[in-house]
Formats: sequence, structure tokens, C-alpha cells
Amino acid sequence: MSCIFCKIVSNEIPAKTVYENDYVIAFYDINPITREHILIIPKKHISSIDHISDEDKDISAALFNAVREIVKLKNMQDDGYRIIINNGRAAGQEVFHLHLHLLGGEKNLGPMLSL
Ligand code: 5GP
Ligand code: ZN
Repeated sequence: MSCIFCKIVSNEIPAKTVYENDYVIAFYDINPITREHILIIPKKHISSIDHISDEDKDISAALFNAVREIVKLKNMQDDGYRIIINNGRAAGQEVFHLHLHLLGGEKNLGPMLSL
């Protein structure tokens, strides 16, 4: 049984796709916390940062390249944006398929959360 983000990769469940290439796909978060809230995920199932392997260098690069491309597409460079990766239980990771939250579309994203 594949995870929910793998099902988005394979089109088994729909998502509002923003960007896609051989390595990654990006789509709107179903429950946005900012005006622009986009999830960027590798197409390959990788559970978390801890599960990235040495063969995944192209994927790691593609994730950050996708950030740059989407920022350009959505004109987010002037106001700025925030990238969050919740990694593991303490960070509240809910979906165990690696994903970057790209948060933007706001004049002020507020302080970075901590305890
Ligand atoms: P996490 O807490 O794991 O960092 O974030 C998981 C994110 O995935 C949450 O912000 C949640 O709203 C989003 N999410 C969960 N299921 C779906 C889904 O089926 N479609 C989309 N587009 N987003 C989802
Ligand atoms: Zn997956």
C-alpha cells in the first residue's frame, strides 16, 4: 500500500499541481496556512531527510531547484518566503514522504516558530 503522496505522484488521488519535472512534483497543500502554501516532494518515495541516500543527490538538488522555479513562477522573490521541513515526530511530521513546505504570498510571515 503506497503512501498518500505516492498516490498523488501516480495520479491515484488528485492534487493542484504547480510544477513537475523528472524528479519532483509540487502541488498546493490541501490545508493551507498561508496564501501560497505549496508542497514540493520527490517522486521517489523517501520517508524523511534521514532516509535520503548517496544515490539521491540529483533528487536533493532538484528539490531546491524546484523552489527557485516555483518562486519565479509565483513571483514570490520580492516579498520573500519560508521553507519548512517537518522531520520526524517531534516536528509533527504527518506524512512520511519527504516534502518541503513553501510558504509565501504574505507581506509578513511572522516569527519562525519554536517552543
Ligand atoms: P507535515 O505535517 O507532514 O509536514 O505536512 C503534511 C502536509 O500535507 C499538511 O500540511 C497537510 O495539509 C498536507 N496534506 C495531507 N494530505 C494531503 C493531500 O491529500 N493533498 C494535499 N494537497 N495535501 C495534503
Ligand atoms: Zn510516498
